[in-house]
Amino acid sequence: MSQGVVQSTVRQIILKQTKKRGFDGHHPWILEHSIHEPGSTPAVGQEVDLVREDGKFVGRGLYNAHSRIRVRIYTWDQNEQVNDGLFLRRLNRAIEHRAKMSTGEPGESMRLVFSEADQLSGLVVDKYSEHIVMQLTSAALMAYVPAIADRLYELYRPISITLQIDERTAKSEGMEPQLKCLLGSAPVEPIEIIENGLRWYVDLNAGQKTGYYLDQRENRLASVRWIPDHANVLDVCTYIGGFALTIAKNRPHASIMAIDSSEKALQTAREHAELNGVQDRVKFLHADFFDYLSAQVDAGVTYDAIVLDPPRLASSRDNLQRALAAYHRLNFLALRLLQPGGTLVTCSCSGRVSRQEFRDMLKGVATRVRREVQIIEDRGAASDHPSCLSCPETDYLKCIIARVL
Ligand code: SAH
Repeated sequence: MSQGVVQSTVRQIILKQTKKRGFDGHHPWILEHSIHEPGSTPAVGQEVDLVREDGKFVGRGLYNAHSRIRVRIYTWDQNEQVNDGLFLRRLNRAIEHRAKMSTGEPGESMRLVFSEADQLSGLVVDKYSEHIVMQLTSAALMAYVPAIADRLYELYRPISITLQIDERTAKSEGMEPQLKCLLGSAPVEPIEIIENGLRWYVDLNAGQKTGYYLDQRENRLASVRWIPDHANVLDVCTYIGGFALTIAKNRPHASIMAIDSSEKALQTAREHAELNGVQDRVKFLHADFFDYLSAQVDAGVTYDAIVLDPPRLASSRDNLQRALAAYHRLNFLALRLLQPGGTLVTCSCSGRVSRQEFRDMLKGVATRVRREVQIIEDRGAASDHPSCLSCPETDYLKCIIARVL
């Protein structure tokens, strides 16, 4: 890697000397307060070089004046250009790696590209059976979408490739929200995928995330191992039945209650139960988790296993304390409902909450209820969602499986 004084013709952006982050750690986000505001504003998506105040090259990336992430770095090598070629090389590398995880079964679904973890900051690509969804969280990448979509088409010959930009991202990046079919014909109806031997309908037009929570695939199956047959199970925030149905399928004598606050998700969950022939073992209920768990505690109900998979409770540093308090309350109620020796599967998908903070929260709960929490597995997202040390935000999903003594 070259660290010399920059000779290139690429527009230069100067990092503030005081800002250490992004200099050595190779974190790909350069935030607005880390740079000297350029005299004239580069266009959205313009290639820029980040240089130190002494002129030394740091990295090369794409600029976006509308985003808090002013520059996303795509290479730390001064000899590499940020162009279609670079993005296609990165895409190939990500996909070659995913091929090792593929079983080749029909209906298989997986994340092919995971943004910063694949050095493709701002791009997520999910494959749902024979459909591909590209999710963009960086306006600067828009110019590279056609080349990436073409390569995905060449490699997979999918029925459709859809581009998705959600409203929140669109606002933070200064672009329009989109749900647009780029190639092939997008499914109007939900499509069927296979995961852990179960059949699922995924609505690529209206689902959460890019359609389904692929990141919990391995955790759903892992939880089964610690749930005995005949167990009385509660799945909190079931969405379309993820944990509940995986447990039901593998534990034919278990009795499962699954709750969620989305009636629409529950409707699909019920269809999934029928589709997989487990409808007699799972009950779905429309409820708020705090209300439901508190009422269950008051009623003296107990469970052998509880899954807690709430939505992202912390979206910014500002509400971290509030989020930790909410995790505490949720886990506190769950521990009060668990039988001695019961299994707790507790998750947090808030990137802002670190693994340590999540563990500390659980320790606080254990102390408060005076019970020992024995950690059996400390898990993350499925292996098609790797995390990178340079960007801790990629290690966003925590899933602790514990025995509560
Ligand atoms: N466990 C699921 C994913 C859960 S996503 C799986 O394996 O796929 C989080 C879910 O929490 C969403 O379905 C959302 O509707 C639900 N949710 C959000 N707030 C809630 C609340 N206050 N009470 C109950 N469910 C809630």
